[in-house]
Amino acid sequence: MPARPPTPDRRPLVLHDLATGRIVLVAPRRDERPANAELAFGGRPPAEWCPFCVGNEKLTPPAVLQAPADPLAPWRARVIPNRYPFVEPMVEQAVERAPPGSPAGGPGRPAHGEHEVVIESPRHDTSILTVDEDSWHDAWMLVRRRLEDLAARDDLAWGMVFKNSGSLAGASLEHVHSQLVAVDFLPGLLAAECAAAAARADPFADLLAEAEAAGRFVARAGDLVALVPPAPRQPGETWILPVAREAHFHATSPARVAALADLCRDVVGRLERILPGCDYNWWLHEAAWRNAGPAADRWHWHLEILPRVAQLAGFELGTGCHVTSWPAGETAARLRDAR
Ligand SMILES: [Zn+2]
Ligand SMILES: [Zn+2]
Repeated sequence: MPARPPTPDRRPLVLHDLATGRIVLVAPRRDERPANAELAFGGRPPAEWCPFCVGNEKLTPPAVLQAPADPLAPWRARVIPNRYPFVEPMVEQAVERAPPGSPAGGPGRPAHGEHEVVIESPRHDTSILTVDEDSWHDAWMLVRRRLEDLAARDDLAWGMVFKNSGSLAGASLEHVHSQLVAVDFLPGLLAAECAAAAARADPFADLLAEAEAAGRFVARAGDLVALVPPAPRQPGETWILPVAREAHFHATSPARVAALADLCRDVVGRLERILPGCDYNWWLHEAAWRNAGPAADRWHWHLEILPRVAQLAGFELGTGCHVTSWPAGETAARLRDAR
């Protein structure tokens, strides 16, 4: 590993490349994360070393939220601060150095926000498919509630929950978990999605109608649908969204939270059957928390599930365009049949 440059302050920074518009978060302390804990502790039961297993709560910061809320009751799911965050709550010194808002060029500014871990099972489950149903539903309710809390803060602009499942997807611990991040700016991909939506009268209604007409619906739960998007980036890419307009998951009903919990597990089960053992990422997109523009009332929050079958190669990294071997319709047919 190359020597680290001297960093008198090892707090995370936002760097903004004005020539490309690219934003990079620099978090030097993430080098200190334990690598491959499973290998390092090989042979010893997870209960002795896994920081996410029940009984090892002393290995992590105290929970921000947990279910059930009674601290004396056995927990089924919990949200904790990330020990190696790439954004951090603002401190007084940072407020003096740069105000929150859109990133600017130059040497960078403090990366202000919250970075947390959602532990979705007290047991050492390594697949979401084996998590106890109550824990799984509770974990999604905690996500909804935490996003609602963060969205109410005027120092934050937007946030999302995301999952890295498997080493190809970036996971560093195998115990099932997701991460929740809130930042003080709207990331470029979201700004682009909002701009594309603003150019159409009813973008998600069009997306749903086109997918249904083209046979790209995969499954339904409640009033949510899982569908293959018009331009899937990898074999098996699937999105889940409500049929009705709803810009913010953090304002949705408990019934929709439960439907999302059930449907994402359904989709991952189907992926496991057509792409056994595949790693995957997912992330939940909701509209900006304020000043979301004219498209906000026509937006639908959505969960994008992306299997990591092929590596991102030069063309993808150099152009932002993806090359895949599975046409969208074929992907949908395979997923529908994989019951
Ligand atoms: Zn564990
Ligand atoms: Zn999206």
